[in-house]
Amino acid sequence: MSQTFGAVEAGGTKFRVGRFSDGELLEEHRIPTEDPSITLPAVRAHLAAWSPVAVGIAAFGPITLDGADRGVMGSTPKPGWPGANLIEDLDVGVPVAIDTDVGAAAIAELDRGAGRDVASLCYVTVGTGLGGAFADRTGSHHGHGHSEVGHVPVQRTPVDAFEGICPYHGDCMEGMASGRALTERKARGQQDAAAHVAGYLGQLVAVLTYTFAPERIAFGGGAVQEPGLVAMIREQSMLALAGYSSNPAVTDADGYVSVAQLGQDAGLVGAALLAERMASYQPG
Ligand SMILES: [Zn+2]
Repeated sequence: MSQTFGAVEAGGTKFRVGRFSDGELLEEHRIPTEDPSITLPAVRAHLAAWSPVAVGIAAFGPITLDGADRGVMGSTPKPGWPGANLIEDLDVGVPVAIDTDVGAAAIAELDRGAGRDVASLCYVTVGTGLGGAFADRTGSHHGHGHSEVGHVPVQRTPVDAFEGICPYHGDCMEGMASGRALTERKARGQQDAAAHVAGYLGQLVAVLTYTFAPERIAFGGGAVQEPGLVAMIREQSMLALAGYSSNPAVTDADGYVSVAQLGQDAGLVGAALLAERMASYQPG
């Protein structure tokens, strides 16, 4: 009989909880993100009904991924969530694997999406915010905590008067090139708003290329629907790299900078893959 795996995508506005078997999503429920004392028992009820052998969680952050505080939410502005422990409070009684939403999405895109034919990939989501993660076939990269590639500094374009919207840094990558930054640029009537954003995302391709040396970089999130954006990112990344890379695939612009394929399911699929891998490490 096939094993059942539970997958949870913990988002800032909703939780998705899915029942997976043989890699297929068989059942899904969506639960609004309210106080953890309301949301987490509702998630737990679905998981308990399915008797999964393991559960994977893809969570919004900041969140602790390793050590004694594994699963503890950090300083999110969501009321009630700082200090909540997604693993202990869900209390499902089976092994639980956890990663960030972008880390899980990177694992999913590598296994099932834009990176199926390569061994490593960086996933970048350009949505309301901007985040990214590196994954290879062993999982996503964790160091002390998780990557925050959305907050890398950028080299400002002299003709760009937009000051940036990151509350911490102003003109970091997220401040200049997130979906919300793009919306704000347009609201202010900035000419070529998407071209400016593409320029900074091209810089991000160079940062990720030089830092992680991935075989592919896949862009997802709502902003990639912007007409022509990904093509512009490809062009701008070649300018930012300026011909300097040890990876010959990088100059194959069409294949290297690509579009994520799993859409809004990347996090949930990634959570299921985390659960499968967690189960395969357990005896029996
Ligand atoms: Zn920032």
